Amino acid sequence: MGTIWVHAETKNGEVSTITLELLTKARELGEVVAVHAGSDAEAAALQLGAYGASRVLSTGDLDGGLIGPALASALSGVIGEEAPQAILFGTTYGGRDVAGRLSVKLDAPVITNIVDLVDEDGLTGVEPVFGGTTNVRTRFTGEKVGIFLVRPKSFVAESAGGDSAAVSMIAVPDLGNTGAAKVHNQFVEESDGPKLDEASIVVSGGRGLGEAEKYHLIEDLAKRLGGAAGASRAIVDAGWVPYSYQVGQTGKVVKPDVYIAAGISGATQHMVGMKGSKTIIAINKDSEAPIFSIADLGIVGDVHKVLPALLEALGES
Ligand SMILES: Cc1cc2nc3c(=O)[nH]c(=O)nc-3n(C[C@H](O)[C@H](O)[C@H](O)COP(=O)(O)OP(=O)(O)OC[C@H]3O[C@@H](n4cnc5c(N)ncnc54)[C@H](O)[C@@H]3O)c2cc1C
Repeated sequence: MGTIWVHAETKNGEVSTITLELLTKARELGEVVAVHAGSDAEAAALQLGAYGASRVLSTGDLDGGLIGPALASALSGVIGEEAPQAILFGTTYGGRDVAGRLSVKLDAPVITNIVDLVDEDGLTGVEPVFGGTTNVRTRFTGEKVGIFLVRPKSFVAESAGGDSAAVSMIAVPDLGNTGAAKVHNQFVEESDGPKLDEASIVVSGGRGLGEAEKYHLIEDLAKRLGGAAGASRAIVDAGWVPYSYQVGQTGKVVKPDVYIAAGISGATQHMVGMKGSKTIIAINKDSEAPIFSIADLGIVGDVHKVLPALLEALGES
């Protein structure tokens, strides 16, 4: 297989987890080149190299300009001479922005929602359908570069210990009016625990909690265990917690060591977001709840009794 480009998302020289996951997979498939926008390519080059990139193509500093238009334009300018076989983007706000714009510039299609990549008569994406109950395989048959959007947590990030990647600059053409937009400030939602999609323990609550005021039981247990708090869509839609807490098909995919589902029925759309967890513990008063079909440990009981008892057993931190 030829060269695979991987969109490298970085912050102050730190490479995002989804990028490391994509690099780990891409190095199994061919030579890997990271494509990047921003002033921190040199700072990120060591980590990018360690996970499999031999080179980094970077726009360099964008002077506050938006990454999407700049990187898509810069990549479309060098794609002819570099001729990558495929470009992998993470399904993130940034990845989707660049992939969509690049697709339009190249008049090339995108395959989205990928959870695995295999080499079968060309690079082929594996995509879950029907709420994750079955997978379909899709590949590009045309001459154009294949653009894939891959879901986070599809692969486990592992360093190969390679050398630092060599950084080359790519030119950003004049972006016209689009280039006038500048980022002046970024607001990051405050949180004092690990991130939901990176935590090794996740405690999620669902409609079985009964009311928004009871969600603190989930947060208390997550905090006590050093984990992150999550939620089913039912309680996100009800406005109990923000969307950033949602686990599932249309929320975050998590693969912690321990996932505790409290008062969650186990709809397929929820389970696709957490069934890869190493150990699943379910608390539900209905012994027939579907969540028990994938649970390693099931507690048939009332969350209002089980959660306080667990907190009490764990004692003060
Ligand atoms: C296109 C689409 C995308 C979706 N995406 C997502 C997604 O990303 N994530 C997601 O979560 N859902 C998603 N859903 C919604 C999903 O189908 C379910 O509606 C949702 O997951 C149900 O949430 P829940 O388990 O909290 O609520 P319910 O299904 O109402 O389950 C509540 C559970 O709590 C139990 N219970 C009640 N009282 C107690 C008690 N006192 N103690 C213990 N247990 C109790 C009940 O037995 C029940 O099993 C999606 C749906 C669609 C159509």
